[in-house]
Amino acid sequence: MTPGVRRALVTGGSGGIGSAICRRLAANGFDVIVHSNRQPVAAQELAGEIIAAGGRAQACIFDVTDGPGTAAALELLLEGGPIQVVVNNAGIHDDAVFPGMQPAQWHRVIDVSLHGFFHVTQPLVMPMVRTRWGRIINITSVAGIAGNRGQVNYSAAKGALHAATKTLSLELASRGITVNSVAPGIIETGMSGAAFDAKAIAQLVPAKRAGRPEEVAGLVAYLASDEAAYITGQVISINGGMI
Ligand code: NDP
Repeated sequence: MTPGVRRALVTGGSGGIGSAICRRLAANGFDVIVHSNRQPVAAQELAGEIIAAGGRAQACIFDVTDGPGTAAALELLLEGGPIQVVVNNAGIHDDAVFPGMQPAQWHRVIDVSLHGFFHVTQPLVMPMVRTRWGRIINITSVAGIAGNRGQVNYSAAKGALHAATKTLSLELASRGITVNSVAPGIIETGMSGAAFDAKAIAQLVPAKRAGRPEEVAGLVAYLASDEAAYITGQVISINGGMI
């Protein structure tokens, strides 16, 4: 740990939005932990890219649905000092209209987003509390606010994160720790690419375009900054005016 440098863990840092968040937090001076589950090479490469650009980074690998595995990985990371920023960004969708949704689809999506949030965030909270400064930022979705056909599982997981955000913010506000959700609309990544063509985007998004991962990263970086100390318990949409 370098004195004065805050450490930030970004789950799903190997993905489209997560990698933009890692780059931006590193550019803002954080020591970034680029997390991945199934893309260790991508996480290593991103950490290497950040270091080559003069920043601080390392990669780490674990499955957020695996409670004991996540706890062990975080214990190791915490040996390097408290992690004062956690961005719970790992997420999947597995869509089906409700009558045809398989139990495995329901459980898998909720496992990654909601149980993953619990597995990752809980071990980091007490070390964060001891420093009297922290930022917990949950990447959710417009689907968790307005719903989206075919995504009962996904919107349930993201909506539950909104409720968890509110309650955890109440518990931690007096300790200098803010807890917020960032709810993107349609963002240009692998996750959204197959689901929305240009025509659909023009119909759904008043801004008539998909958002960019860097735009989400900019909002996350602001919430992670000292300037955002008085914003907590909020769900902040970034969706080109969809709702
Ligand atoms: P990507 O598919 O590009 O990235 C998803 C990330 O989640 C990957 O890094 C992946 O890691 C990680 N992940 C998935 N399952 C697990 C797991 N079991 N354990 C650990 N990590 C896991 O998606 P996006 O970048 O588009 O999405 C990032 C977040 O933004 C998600 O939470 C998503 O719901 C949300 N979002 C995205 C929108 C969009 O339009 N793109 C819109 C609204 C919200 P790996 O590949 O290494 O396994």
